[in-house]
Amino acid sequence: MAESKDIREKLEKIRRKALELGFEGFGVAPPDVAQAGDWFRQWLAQNFDGEMQYMKRGEAKRLDLDLVLPGVKSVICLSTSYFTAPRTLEFLERPETGDISNYARNMDYHDLIQPRLRELEACLAEVFPGCRSKSYVDTGPILEKPLAEKAGLGWIGKHTNLLTEGVGSYYFLSEILVDQVLPPSEPAEDHCGTCTACIDICPTGAIVAPYVLDSRKCISYLTIELRGEIPREYRKALGNRIYGCDDCQIVCPWNSYAVTTEEPAFQEREGVKGLIELMQLNEEGFRSRFRKSPVKRIKRRGLLRNVAVALGNSGQTEAVPALSQALADPEPLIRSHAVWALGELLGKKALEVVELRLSGESDGSVLNEVERLKTV
Ligand code: SF4
Repeated sequence: MAESKDIREKLEKIRRKALELGFEGFGVAPPDVAQAGDWFRQWLAQNFDGEMQYMKRGEAKRLDLDLVLPGVKSVICLSTSYFTAPRTLEFLERPETGDISNYARNMDYHDLIQPRLRELEACLAEVFPGCRSKSYVDTGPILEKPLAEKAGLGWIGKHTNLLTEGVGSYYFLSEILVDQVLPPSEPAEDHCGTCTACIDICPTGAIVAPYVLDSRKCISYLTIELRGEIPREYRKALGNRIYGCDDCQIVCPWNSYAVTTEEPAFQEREGVKGLIELMQLNEEGFRSRFRKSPVKRIKRRGLLRNVAVALGNSGQTEAVPALSQALADPEPLIRSHAVWALGELLGKKALEVVELRLSGESDGSVLNEVERLKTV
């Protein structure tokens, strides 16, 4: 009994330190993912992970936390809010600007959260001398949402994000695995009830059943994870979303309770938002605009691919010069999406511009796009 009181006091010390460091949610889960593992295997078997090879590569570790930290006894789950201002679907009424997911509007969260995790690990080592730990913030193979649910941080909603009563879902998850037995928290309960708002709003129908996401259809996957061509069938649905999509979270009633964070690193950064200007970014311009942002992950080629699609959807014929200029871009991915966008804005007339600019074109995907334009 005295031992259990002692460990609870030590855990409380760790919890206080976590809050001091800026984490908002704190809970402890046992390192058991058996049930979630079955679900994960079924999800992979249906290829819902698309081209995210790291999902299959990390399967064994995701299913057995002992492979990540031998002797693991507990997982400390943490959340960090990035919610800076109420979010609506009004961005759809400004098709000349690109919409970037809430979490990616300023600093890369890894750069903020990783040092905090290290500090918390140092505190753990002080409180539990000799204890070993391993931390992740989207940096390794771990079933973070089922663990966070067990740790009482929130429940996995029908949109497959974690959400919390009184907090919503705009937060990052991170974890510290420890080889120390800690008292587990009370698991969270599902409060989605009969609501289907996230399923109904999804522009591409990516939530194929409650709690099941087909990533291959998800706009976050298509604009961030996918490296190659965006399948034509989804391009219109992208609208003006150029990095991620928050629609399922925007309509979630629980997010009307979300409390904003004062964290300066997540306040929206001023900068280029106009699609035409973005389409004209060269390497140097891209680096200087997105150097510290999560957007740098998709590189200039990925961003300009997305921007071209958004311009194609914008109805702005003022974008024609920038898209025509993009036909000379050294990156075929940008050229092929620029051809599509010009076709959307000008119809068959786009062929004149395209054939003139691409007379020496040899890339297969660009030529395919030109051929398709002839059939419009
Ligand atoms: S929108 Fe409704 S169904 Fe979807 S996660 Fe929120 S509460 Fe659950």
